[in-house]
Amino acid sequence: MNGSETSFRWGNFSHLYIERGAADYPLTWRIRDRFAKARVLEIDDYKAVFARPRQRFQAQKESMKLILAVKKDRFLYDGSGHSQDFSLENFYYNTLMFNCVYNCDYCYLQGMYPSANIVAFVNVEDYFSATRRGIEDRSNPAQPLYLCISYDTDLLAFESVAPYCRAWIEFVHGEPDLLVEIRTKSAAYRAIRDLAPTDRVILAWTLSPEPVAARYEHGAAPLRLRLDAVQAAIDDGWPVRLCFDPVLAVPSWKSVYGELLEETFRRIDPTAVRDVSVGVFRMTKGYFQRMRRQRQDTPLLYGEYVQEGTTVTYPAGQREEMTSFMRQRLGQHFKEDQIGVWT
Ligand code: SF4
Repeated sequence: MNGSETSFRWGNFSHLYIERGAADYPLTWRIRDRFAKARVLEIDDYKAVFARPRQRFQAQKESMKLILAVKKDRFLYDGSGHSQDFSLENFYYNTLMFNCVYNCDYCYLQGMYPSANIVAFVNVEDYFSATRRGIEDRSNPAQPLYLCISYDTDLLAFESVAPYCRAWIEFVHGEPDLLVEIRTKSAAYRAIRDLAPTDRVILAWTLSPEPVAARYEHGAAPLRLRLDAVQAAIDDGWPVRLCFDPVLAVPSWKSVYGELLEETFRRIDPTAVRDVSVGVFRMTKGYFQRMRRQRQDTPLLYGEYVQEGTTVTYPAGQREEMTSFMRQRLGQHFKEDQIGVWT
């Protein structure tokens, strides 16, 4: 069974919750048209639905509701210490959506949000204005503002509903000091394939061994389709990043991840790839604890973990072995400065 053949499905929303203040945005109308049969409920504030107490994340995943809202503040967040920054100092991310249409067993959103329902923010222009201000105010003007827009969601997977990636790619064309990363586990590259490539947008695919994708990345595309999408993006001239992250301590992880790398570079010419990133499983302690309380059904959360500061991860020896294995294998194809590593 591959990732797209698991029982987890999304694609239709039976209910749209729409903030009164979000009602007249073009994106709201587009989404209302798309889900014309959905029941529409007007609300004052998305938090009244999203942040209700005693919601059950995994039960809601089976039938996610879509909430359309206006983001009022915090259009840029400082890049987290949990991510590779590729030596780019002005590193930020934003949140155009809360939650994700996929349902990976290891996803920290389960521990971060009270609800699995999806919040899509419709005031995209406000994000653009804040990003322009961020570009002007960036601390190192010798480098671009580096902005990850699909940081804790999968925007490309949602592109047929809300064309955020398209909007940002078009925005970037007018912003010479902006570098955007769009990260995905989807095969939905066709949704943006008509757009002219730019070296200021990195299309990043997270690649997982097929047994991992099939078992733990519910709803996401199987590896072969992610690799098809990678090849299509390269053919069209996009800068492409490959992300081996999180590397998981599954049984026989060395041969499982070794095979992933072999398969990847059998299919994809590494000289056509901009760079790669690697990181083993790590998570903020509070999220990890909340996830464990909710989930006894996945072995991923019950291996050997240690706490270092506020981060839960594998013990140092195991972490170093996994990281150096990946680094050594990737070093056969990439220069040191092309490999971003979380350690
Ligand atoms: S694709 Fe990323 S954001 Fe979406 S469920 Fe998986 S880990 Fe979470």
